[in-house]
Amino acid sequence: MSENITPAPVESKELTSFADLVSLCKRRGFIFPSSEIYGGIGSCWDYGPLGVELKLNIKNSWWKAMTDREDVEGLDASILMHPRTWEASGHVEGFVDPLVDCKNCKARFRADKMDEAQLKAGECPTCGKKGTLTEPRNFNLMFKTHMGPLEESASIVYLRPETAQGIFVNFENVQQSARQKVPFGIAQIGKAFRNEITPGNFIFRTREFEQMEMQYFVKPGTDMEWFEKWKEIRLNWHLGNGLRRKKLQFHTHGPTELAHYARAAFDVEYEFPIGWQEIEGIHNRSDFDLRRHQEFSKKKLEYFEESTKERYLPFVIETSVGCDRALLAILCDSYRVEGDRTVLKLHPKLAPYKVAVFPLMKKPELLEMTDKVFNTLKKNFRTTYDESGTIGKRYRRQDEIGTPYCVTIDYDGVADNTVTVRERDGMTQQRISADQLVNYINDQMLAWKSE
Ligand code: ATP
Repeated sequence: MSENITPAPVESKELTSFADLVSLCKRRGFIFPSSEIYGGIGSCWDYGPLGVELKLNIKNSWWKAMTDREDVEGLDASILMHPRTWEASGHVEGFVDPLVDCKNCKARFRADKMDEAQLKAGECPTCGKKGTLTEPRNFNLMFKTHMGPLEESASIVYLRPETAQGIFVNFENVQQSARQKVPFGIAQIGKAFRNEITPGNFIFRTREFEQMEMQYFVKPGTDMEWFEKWKEIRLNWHLGNGLRRKKLQFHTHGPTELAHYARAAFDVEYEFPIGWQEIEGIHNRSDFDLRRHQEFSKKKLEYFEESTKERYLPFVIETSVGCDRALLAILCDSYRVEGDRTVLKLHPKLAPYKVAVFPLMKKPELLEMTDKVFNTLKKNFRTTYDESGTIGKRYRRQDEIGTPYCVTIDYDGVADNTVTVRERDGMTQQRISADQLVNYINDQMLAWKSE
């Protein structure tokens, strides 16, 4: 085996359509269509062995960034909440999309996403017939179910459409039990459900998804200052996951775009193959939520500030990112086709496996050392093993799932206790002492940078 090789760079092609990614994700066990043996169910997806690792790594990256601070506490609230919650939050009344139906072909569309001329003419975008569309009707996006054995209106509960409300209703519990002082935040990761009219684009818009949200409670008057601080912190988180700066942009909402609760809002957008789209929203929600919950629950939610003896309802800065959408951005950003290989140039901290170990051949002389190396690596990194096919083929398999380092054990290595480490992005190979391997990989992981 040749050593310390740096191959000539080849042309690197980026992802141009979701189709290639969907196929890789299925083939390699990142993401499968849900209930596939029954023909699948609209816009629901299952994370396979590698997908669940990648997702966990993203959640850990977020959790660490948000809760490794003295001023942020964690929470895991339940999905089902008292139905009054959703009256207070405005979701029962306001969480609606205007829908039109085609009387001819029965297709259904969001009026606010349709071409205006078509909508005016009542022309169906699917069957092309004119005058077949109904007037827009409001459709609530919350999934309804019943609690207990009786299916009556008194037993209606909703699957939460966002995790935020679990945080607002626990504001006082967390503040008092954790003895926090304003400003402080509450962070939560959890499932949310929305009966989206136009789901699709792989995991971009689904009806069941995971959110990573943080509500930061501040003194009124200091809210815009904190809004700016959180914008910067959140941008750095996305960059810290390896997303390239040129693929990120910010969109500040104009007065007509602002949600009913927001004083200021700002989206982090990523350039997907379908164009620039929101991956995270950062909102200044004023005291809207606490005020409404105070009104609807009749429970005082004011905060008493010891130092000034003031009583007030804190304002809230919210950061809300979809875990699945962030994962999609990370996959899109890392996907490349270079010559005969497809590679995911994932940040090593997010890659499902950090290291793969290969014996050059299935010979007992090599397997003994391979076992030793594998067991040492496993104690330090998530490590996989592959002994089938040529080394080139094994590299390709690992490239496609984003494993940043491949370690090969050959005859020279057994003789002088060395291994060859091949690095995924530049495909360079380096022969190093087996005793140095763990330190070497740690150093390489820490030094990793996206393009
Ligand atoms: P959109 O305009 O795309 O419907 P939104 O503005 O309603 O999104 P928020 O309510 O601010 O989204 O939710 C915060 C984050 O949750 C979004 O930035 C996105 O990452 C994620 N998210 C929202 N809806 C979905 C969905 N249906 N599928 C996957 N992720 C979602």
